[in-house]
Formats: sequence, structure tokens, C-alpha cells
Amino acid sequence: MWPRDPDEFIPNHVMPDGADHDDALYFVFMRGELTCKTEQGVPTPITAGDYRWFDVETQSKQFLGHHGSVPCFALKATGTVPEGYTSVPLRALLGRTTQSLFYLAGRAQQIVDWFETHQFCGRCGSEMVLHPQDRAMTCESCRLVNYPRLSPSIIVLVTRGEEMLLARNANWPANMYSTLAGFVEAGESIEQTVHREVFEEVGLRVKNLRYFGSQSWPFPNSLMLGFHAEYDGGDIVCQAGEIADAQWFTKDSMPQTPPKTAISGWLIDEFIQANP
Ligand SMILES: [Zn+2]
Repeated sequence: MWPRDPDEFIPNHVMPDGADHDDALYFVFMRGELTCKTEQGVPTPITAGDYRWFDVETQSKQFLGHHGSVPCFALKATGTVPEGYTSVPLRALLGRTTQSLFYLAGRAQQIVDWFETHQFCGRCGSEMVLHPQDRAMTCESCRLVNYPRLSPSIIVLVTRGEEMLLARNANWPANMYSTLAGFVEAGESIEQTVHREVFEEVGLRVKNLRYFGSQSWPFPNSLMLGFHAEYDGGDIVCQAGEIADAQWFTKDSMPQTPPKTAISGWLIDEFIQANP
């Protein structure tokens, strides 16, 4: 088994003896940003050995598991990032570091946030403690158990022949267009969400949904489920306050779109590759 694939991550919430050694990776969040050192222009998480010299206060520390053979921890700290180190918002890591390190940093931030926001029971108000077996917080008074929360959402590229429907969110820069996306509501299937979101956002009916793939999207705790879907009817009517514009584009008339590191860019690129 050893050494493992350096990009493979094996999660584990129980720290094996001796795992907290100097070479362990420490994903340290201060004021919501990841503390990094810069290696050849690339932001990289620090090690336990680096952190040892930091003059900061540790607020929480969780064992995450192993990245290859390297133990990984998620920490929240308060204080000042020392000289020679930087702090980077998670979003700025996307595309600048390896995919596996980006997802690991996203995992770390979600665990840090979840732990911080589940110190007290939402039902009876008692203090919560870490669950003895699972990655969960539990209330010893009323037995409520809270796992790290994920919010599934759909993201869909609607196509009509060789045309792609892309929309511009009301809060985005002028020429930035992307696929449609939205959160799954309680009681809904993923497929129902695709039909509902497309209809709500642009007033169109779709058919032939094809599941494409998924992406962890830690802003703050989404899981994006990507689809391709075909146009089935209707005229574009943009949802007020949400969608500023939506149009059909071909590969020769593309606006600015997200990079392939985001599932939206990946959905678009795959469609173009399959329809040269
Ligand atoms: Zn309780």
C-alpha cells in the first residue's frame, strides 16, 4: 500500500499515533483565508514544522486524513500571518495549485467552519462535543447529531443543435456568461431541480438530461452536480433580479466563460469537443 499515490486522499477523523509530525500539512485559516507559503509562485499550504514558529493562537484543530502518505490537519487561528507567508482566499487557489490541493483546502475550510458553527445544540442550546465515532458534533443532553453540511446544487448546459445557452448573472462583469445553476430544494429530485431552475431562470423547457459529473464547490459548502440538457421549447425570459441576459452562442461566437477548473467551464468545453 505504501507509498500511496501522492494525489490520493484518504479521509479519517481519528488521528493515528505520531501523525502530528513536522512534515504534516496544516491548512490554517485566519480571518477566513488560508495561510500559505509561496513556492515558485504557487501558494502552498504550510507544514506543522512551519506553524511551530508562528506567534498565533490556535482556536480549533481537526485531523482530516492522509494526502498520499502525508497527514493533514485543518486549523483555525487568530493572530497575524508572519513575514514570508501570505494568506489567500480559497477562490484564489482555484487553478493556481493542483486540483487535489484545492479540494483538500476546500475540505479543510468546510470542516473548520462546520466545527465553529456547531459549538451549541440548535435544539436545546447545550454545548456540543465531537462524536466518538463519526465526523460529527453531538449534543450529550438531547442526542442531536450534526454532520458537516453539504448543499447540493445543479449546474446545466442547455444546448440546441450546436448552440449553447449561456446566461449572465445580474452581479457579474458585463461579458461574463456561464451555464445555469441553482440549489436543490428539500423534497426535490436532482432532475426536478434541473427542470425547475432552467424554467425559473430563463423560461425554457428541457429534455434528455444527461448527468455529466460533479464538483465540490466550497463557497461555502456546495456540491455541484453537472448536466447536459437539450432544449425542448419556449422563448428566453430572464428571471428578474437574477439573470441580466441569456443568449444562444456557438463555439465561434463565445463570450467570456469560466475556466475549465470550474465545472461550468468543463461542461462547455466537453460540449465543444464533442461537436467540432
Ligand atoms: Zn441538544
